[in-house]
Amino acid sequence: MSIIVQKYGGSSVATIEKIKKVADSVIEKYKEGNKVVVVVSAMGDTTDDLIAMAKKISNNPDKRELDALLSTGEMVSSSLLSMAIIDKGFQAVSYNAFQIQLKTDGTYGKSLIKEIDTKIIEKSLDEGKIVVVAGFQGISNDGDITTLGRGGSDTTAVALAVKLGGVCEIYTDVDGIYSVDPRIYNKAKKLEKISYEEMLELSSLGAQVMHSRSVELGQKYDIPIYVGLSCSDIKGTYIMEVNDMESKPITGIAVSDDDIAITIQNVKYDINLLSQIFETIAAKKINVDMISQTSPIDNHVNISFTIPKNDKSECIDVLNGFGCKNLIVDENITKFSVVGIGMKTTSGVAAKLFKIFSTNKIEVKMITTSEIRITCAINNYDKTKAVKLVAEEFNL
Ligand code: ADP
Ligand code: ASP
Ligand code: MG
Repeated sequence: MSIIVQKYGGSSVATIEKIKKVADSVIEKYKEGNKVVVVVSAMGDTTDDLIAMAKKISNNPDKRELDALLSTGEMVSSSLLSMAIIDKGFQAVSYNAFQIQLKTDGTYGKSLIKEIDTKIIEKSLDEGKIVVVAGFQGISNDGDITTLGRGGSDTTAVALAVKLGGVCEIYTDVDGIYSVDPRIYNKAKKLEKISYEEMLELSSLGAQVMHSRSVELGQKYDIPIYVGLSCSDIKGTYIMEVNDMESKPITGIAVSDDDIAITIQNVKYDINLLSQIFETIAAKKINVDMISQTSPIDNHVNISFTIPKNDKSECIDVLNGFGCKNLIVDENITKFSVVGIGMKTTSGVAAKLFKIFSTNKIEVKMITTSEIRITCAINNYDKTKAVKLVAEEFNL
């Protein structure tokens, strides 16, 4: 009997009707002779609504309490789905993070999963029950509720598949992984498969279809992840090991509006000071991504870097603490990335990209690269134009 871990995202369980449909799909898998574990996200926009509520109470809600609040969304959907399955005549049980001892590193809002005790899940499966797990939540060593970061239910599902030795299926509102977010570029092509490496880059760079840490886990434990449209037979995409030497130079594009660029103007060019600043930022778990620096003039430089929008005030506090008052904050940037393992063996991709940008007057503010990606910070207002031009040029 194989174990299948399925995950249904917020839009797939947005209404009672949809929850009942998901119950039917789950039961179908169960009737085929599988042991089924289902991870659910909160219904529809519940998490956004809860955040909005918290923001009405406080501009800067207490992180512990915010996580406690946000975890309630998945408690509602998991018990409702379990109820729906039971109502259809099958056995089901819902579990939250406490009940399956899903332990995290304790960071509020972006926890890493440390361990899961799957005994209770396995016992329920052996008893013939369908197990429904509340995604996105975990508990710290101190017993606090912590969440895994937006979109984190994907990671709950992959972690459970790893622990249970099962296959992993992620069901969402799109019928697979496309070369570009189809909401941004409607001519994007669906991919039959994509390598962990590429998907990890795309999701870290803004393709919200997968929580990036779920892909990381899939890669680490070599668990293929199937992504498909919920309650449908349309063929989706496998995220898996791909060794295709002949692959196109670029597999996909990701864009993200979630970052801001901060420039520290005219700071003393002192490598000790700079490393202390970035160490302090890192200690606050603020993820610095792109960095660029001007050449020293009178031993002073300008340093620009990007961070997530949410971390703006904390980062500015750190910089002010180091006496950096001369700051420019650019909130209107888009991180535009092209990703492809084919880049390892193809030259000229960057040249082609910059030619498109210069011909079409798209200003590039910062650049970072890895072996399989090129990321440019551009102005927000150039986003759609850049996606269309690059997708057409590279036949994505
Ligand atoms: P869920 O609530 O099911 O977790 P998400 O909203 O997190 O769903 O992710 C699905 C969305 O991801 C799609 O509606 C799509 O707009 C977006 N998306 C971004 N990049 C891609 C991509 N490359 N391929 C498919 N979908 C993508
Ligand atoms: N409900 C959470 C969110 O909206 C987690 C998830 O959907 O995976 O981010
Ligand atoms: Mg998601």
